[in-house]
Amino acid sequence: MRTVEEALSQILKTVKTNGTERTPLLESLGLVLAEEIVADIPIPPFSNSAVDGYAVRAEDTVGADCKRPVVLREAGEILAGQVSQESVATGTAVRIMTGAPVPPGADSLVMIEDCVRLSDGRVEIHEAAESGRHVRLQGEDIRKGEVVLSPGTLIRPAEIAMLATMGRSDVLTYRKPRVAVISTGDEVIEIETGVIPPPGKIRNSNRYALAAMVLEAGGVIHSLTHIPDDLEKTKEALRMCAEADVIVTAGGVSVGDRDYVKPALEALGTLELWQVAMKPGKPLAFGRIGETLFFGLPGNPVSAMVTFELFVRPALWKMAGREEDKLARLQLNATLTHPIAHAPGRQEYVRVSAFESAGELFATPTGAQGSGILRSMTLSDSLLVIPENFDGLKAGERANVILTG
Ligand code: AMP
Ligand code: MG
Repeated sequence: MRTVEEALSQILKTVKTNGTERTPLLESLGLVLAEEIVADIPIPPFSNSAVDGYAVRAEDTVGADCKRPVVLREAGEILAGQVSQESVATGTAVRIMTGAPVPPGADSLVMIEDCVRLSDGRVEIHEAAESGRHVRLQGEDIRKGEVVLSPGTLIRPAEIAMLATMGRSDVLTYRKPRVAVISTGDEVIEIETGVIPPPGKIRNSNRYALAAMVLEAGGVIHSLTHIPDDLEKTKEALRMCAEADVIVTAGGVSVGDRDYVKPALEALGTLELWQVAMKPGKPLAFGRIGETLFFGLPGNPVSAMVTFELFVRPALWKMAGREEDKLARLQLNATLTHPIAHAPGRQEYVRVSAFESAGELFATPTGAQGSGILRSMTLSDSLLVIPENFDGLKAGERANVILTG
């Protein structure tokens, strides 16, 4: 049986990055940039005022303060969006608003709060201006021709702002992975029936949990299918998903009499990995059907979600163009507030909630840890990792916590 780390590295070796496509700017949020963005203009494009105030010659204001203000003649006003070619002459000041170009002749700005406008067309300056102060220089942020964003960059609101600044109304991005979600089981009924499950039946939660995880990981739903425990129907469902980049199934992948996912995969494609030394989620299958990647996740709702988080999410992120060293979630070391029992043999992922107190990170288990227990999943924000050879952790001991959000 492979360790989680071995399984993940084997899976990621198989994953190829998707092709690229043009995407309208706003739709690129959450996608990965596939081109280099070079500045077509300097930023700021012209030297401008960082304050509302007066553009002055610093030398005219030497020694000015509240008690001995310097009085200058107000020679015009420049609002944002306007341009003044007129030079600021000695002994004058030009009223200026934030973002307006600094007029020729002026080398500094005095904030409006440090000036008193007189009724005779003059202005009192209550502070000595320093040359260059409050001036946002042309090109101080970005020089024309400079690379501002590189391929592989995740597009967040800050990148959207940069792309807009560079006039890009569309960008080249990696295509989102298309994921087919297949739930399995004769006992499972759809919530759309609106009925209380009759004896022996349960509602289909995996369909929605996995679809939500696909969307959260930046994927597109290719299809949502439910199949009974039947080999032919399983094969048929897999054939219907040939156009998907990834097939994710839940359930039917263990060693039960009616677990048909593995045989169906072996009939249509190749099984590359089966079973991982982890808890929850040992019976994981990974393989390929043609060009489509296949993940057979366990059916227990928590096992399905934890194995998705650990294996499918990084695979989707890689397909979507994220760089290999950016596929892991943030992991921090936390102090346990309660003991956790653990039988050595498999690496365990414990649902915890993480919190900070006096500069230290703590983790509290969120309740019963059975692989079907969703409540402790809803209460948790992190997974605490117990290495496979440990025989439990005491309160006060430290362990790694994966912040899953
Ligand atoms: P399996 O891996 O098919 O043996 O399923 C393991 C457990 O997960 C069983 O208790 C199933 O009833 C449950 N299960 C399987 N599929 C789903 C589903 N789609 N929604 C909720 N529970 C499920
Ligand atoms: Mg089943």
